[in-house]
Amino acid sequence: MLDIQKIRADFPILSQTVNGKPLVYFDNGATSQKPQIVIDAIEKYYQEINANIHRGVHTLSQLATDAYEISRGKVQQHINAKFAHEVLFTPGTTHGINLVTNGFASILKPGDEVLVSALEHHSNIVPWQMLCEKTGAVLKVIPMNEDGELIMDAFDALLSEKTKVVTVNHISNALGIINPIKYIIEKAHAVGAAVLIDGAQAVPHLKPDVQELDCDFYVFSGHKMCGPTGTGILYGKEAWLNKLPPYQGGGEMIKEVTFEKTTYADLPHKFEAGTPNIAGGIVLGTAIDYLNNIGFDNIQKHEEELLEYATKRLLEIEGLRIYGTGKNKASVVSFNIDGIHPYDIGSIIDKLGIAVRTGHHCAQPIMNFFCIPGTIRASFSFYNTKEEIDLMVDAVKKAKTMLS
Ligand SMILES: *Cc1c(COP(=O)(O)O)cnc(C)c1O
Repeated sequence: MLDIQKIRADFPILSQTVNGKPLVYFDNGATSQKPQIVIDAIEKYYQEINANIHRGVHTLSQLATDAYEISRGKVQQHINAKFAHEVLFTPGTTHGINLVTNGFASILKPGDEVLVSALEHHSNIVPWQMLCEKTGAVLKVIPMNEDGELIMDAFDALLSEKTKVVTVNHISNALGIINPIKYIIEKAHAVGAAVLIDGAQAVPHLKPDVQELDCDFYVFSGHKMCGPTGTGILYGKEAWLNKLPPYQGGGEMIKEVTFEKTTYADLPHKFEAGTPNIAGGIVLGTAIDYLNNIGFDNIQKHEEELLEYATKRLLEIEGLRIYGTGKNKASVVSFNIDGIHPYDIGSIIDKLGIAVRTGHHCAQPIMNFFCIPGTIRASFSFYNTKEEIDLMVDAVKKAKTMLS
């Protein structure tokens, strides 16, 4: 069993009051809080080893480079990538996806098809739309059902030899549904399509094994898994990363530059032009260590309890509907109350110290599907408690009384 009070003490922000009330932070789907060990590691980097990486022969540059590459190795181990050079540092999920779509611009032909799912975050829709506009490829959508689950029969029917890319999130940020990505990857590969998995919402809750999944790309952000903002990872299979052209040109990504011709550096540097977020990359490794010390089995067990408890308690409220009622779910509850705008509930419970997300959660197609303007989303982390859920339920009840 996790000692939640001990874990909470690792997160200085959690002992704050907001609007005179103890903070109840249930907006972990937007970004997670950071433990002291992560905050300290950022300071330590700038106090002790700050220097540019891969460039100088001087001692500090070596220390910074070593720390950066050690962190890359930690990520490699964590996601079980075959090679460290398949792990690219990025500023986040959005950047990672754009890097891949940019590369596919020179691969896709008019009439080729890209399949995205109805459950995607805008950052896994818009770059593919832009790619299709540029190349003449056609965007197709894997539909969902009323429970917020992707319809696998429809997916099977959409696949053909025209399908070149399939992209789907591991876990939906808006509804918390866990998608059957293993099946999707297998089926997509059977028609020769590449698969990109948007793991932004998965990595805070589980440890993905990219070799076991056999996905071609797996992207995520550091800031949702206790790491600093402006950090992220794009995992790509070596063969794909060799095939894709570089995303940005500049320093660090070259082998040799003349005005006639430039040759590109080997992986991973080909995709890491310019000075990266060095501190962030190093400290992402610290965040991963922190999570692994707590243990993803423990995290999942605790979060499952929170999900079950929150679902049960919220459904006590008359007129409350939960969106995303599929069986396979992460610790996210997206809901509305009949006749009340989600924004109004969100504003009132904020006054009571409860931080939730209200709105379309960067997933407008899902809101259109349910014909709603948005939802109230409570997304739980391992540092949350049932007592906090009780506070939220009380606050929502109070807001409902005030608004009806
Ligand atoms: C947060 C999120 C993104 C975007 O991540 P950024 O860190 O903002 O780049 C993409 N997809 C999903 C599923 C997300 O939850």
